[in-house]
Amino acid sequence: MIPYANMAPVRALGCPEGFAFLYLTPRQSVDALLAGRVVAAALPTGALPALQDPVEPVGHYGVAASGKVGSVLLYSRKPFEALEATDRIHLTEQSATSVLLLYLLLREGRKPDQLPSPAPTRSTATAILRIGDDALVGRDAADYPFCYDLATLWHESTGKPMVFCRWVVRRDAPPEVKARLLAWLGQLDARDDALVEQSAGNEARRLGIPRQKMVAYLRGMRRVLQADDLAGQACFLKTATVHFAAYQTWRKQAAPGTGAVPAPLRLDRAEALRLLREAPLGELMARAHAARLRRHPGGLVTFVMDTNPNYTNICATGCTFCAFHRDGHAADAYTLTPPELAARVRLAADQGATTVLLQGGTHGGISLAHLVAYVRAIKAACPGLHIHPFSPSEIDAVARRETMTAEAVLRTLWDEGIHTMPGGGAEILADRVRRMVSPAKCSADRWLEIMETAHGLGFRTTATMMYGHVETDAEIVEHLLRLREVQDRTGGFSSFIAWSFKPGNSPLSRTVPHAAHPALYVRILALARLVLDNFEHIQSSWFSESENAGSLGLLAGADDFGGILVEENVLKTTGHDRQTTVARVKELIRASGFVPARRDSDYRIVEVYDAKGSVS
Ligand code: SF4
Repeated sequence: MIPYANMAPVRALGCPEGFAFLYLTPRQSVDALLAGRVVAAALPTGALPALQDPVEPVGHYGVAASGKVGSVLLYSRKPFEALEATDRIHLTEQSATSVLLLYLLLREGRKPDQLPSPAPTRSTATAILRIGDDALVGRDAADYPFCYDLATLWHESTGKPMVFCRWVVRRDAPPEVKARLLAWLGQLDARDDALVEQSAGNEARRLGIPRQKMVAYLRGMRRVLQADDLAGQACFLKTATVHFAAYQTWRKQAAPGTGAVPAPLRLDRAEALRLLREAPLGELMARAHAARLRRHPGGLVTFVMDTNPNYTNICATGCTFCAFHRDGHAADAYTLTPPELAARVRLAADQGATTVLLQGGTHGGISLAHLVAYVRAIKAACPGLHIHPFSPSEIDAVARRETMTAEAVLRTLWDEGIHTMPGGGAEILADRVRRMVSPAKCSADRWLEIMETAHGLGFRTTATMMYGHVETDAEIVEHLLRLREVQDRTGGFSSFIAWSFKPGNSPLSRTVPHAAHPALYVRILALARLVLDNFEHIQSSWFSESENAGSLGLLAGADDFGGILVEENVLKTTGHDRQTTVARVKELIRASGFVPARRDSDYRIVEVYDAKGSVS
């Protein structure tokens, strides 16, 4: 399932019985279908010829528009017809079909040597291609005087609709699977209008745009394709076939050298363990870095302006690695009221924070109503700030206290406008370890189950690991494999974040007095990039180990440098107290050979900083 708004009416059908949604970009859908990781998908039109052997269409369902679509846009500093060979265009990695469409449109009226080239970074580009939700919300619109809807240009050029994707199923799927999919999509014939109405409100809230705009957008495309759409599809594929070889040559200019790297086979348990234990660190880093370049060829390293206040330090869970929690009678125990918390967040927002990562102890007096009150208070104090709250262990604790299901808790938060969750409390996803370090916390199965439930509802979440205490190498590998398994089913993890156990002041320091060597951090990040082949982002943090280890992690497969952290309390209680500035983070990223870029909590790029530090 493509997570963009254009699929909202199909998502509103609910997942057909016996299936699970896996949220993937159009490009990832192609890989997943080819690998047999999914049985059906809305396949980008440009991939149809290459996949006609393994897949077949499911009826006449897809996404088509006759003219303006609103979510495949080229923003440009020059008029489209004035773009020339000296100009460069920054492309999206999410959809090859949109890039192919752009190429075909650029070719018109230009000789091959007059075509603008792809640009590996936005900072060197005259124009940028935006698709999906980024385009729909007008991301980058303010920075470029010209904006072109590629479906409009295609319609003006050919007189035909543009078909962006078709629902397909693997040919080797059992007949009853194909029949169930057809019956599921067949509901669109009679219910499409109602599904648009049903889903538009939620989607509009999620993207922060007016409901009317969302309704107009969803009504501006057809999900049940007509004869004219199929003629448009045939026209697009015919034109694409004629120019495909030239297109491939042109496309490779975006990332010189990366196209030749052969796709690796998926790492299995034994090989992952061998790499963790035995691979020379330099080789492991190089291999992970190559995998990172295949997924993110542009050379950007992102960071986010965030703050991590904790609404309470009172906690009944008593993890032995934790120096932060207090019992309710401790002199320094606290529970913030919603206005107190909102005031702290406001202070951070005034210093530039765009995201609040909100977590707290599992305190018996905290109910679901309290969590909702915190969210509402922050929203009222800081409209527009992204709230990224409540790890699975907090969701589990509240669900048990309220005798609700975790799904009901998550739905309540979703309805409050919360659409992302932090992946805290994972520690090591092996129950032997959890019994030793966090016996009162939810089990590994429960942590994963809550994540899977959240992904099924549409949440995007991070996944974490805290290592360097009582775990074995095999349990580190097990942790990564379990995350990969869930991601195969849901696609809902946005990134992987690891940190080492900090012994200071914690009960566990009596048996594990020293933190793990930073080299293990780098090794684990590299291994994560290789094992977690279905994760977009791997984070290397300046904060959790050190500036040096964090910088090395950027050469070991990571593409994200974490948060600026206006406020952090949990690791501070172990004596691990570090601060930084945006300028320092940019300096560290550049020193590692990358281009710094600020992102939001959905990993969408907000600003790219060129070599002189100016914003592009
Ligand atoms: S890590 Fe979290 S759940 Fe565990 S004791 Fe500390 S505050 Fe409580």
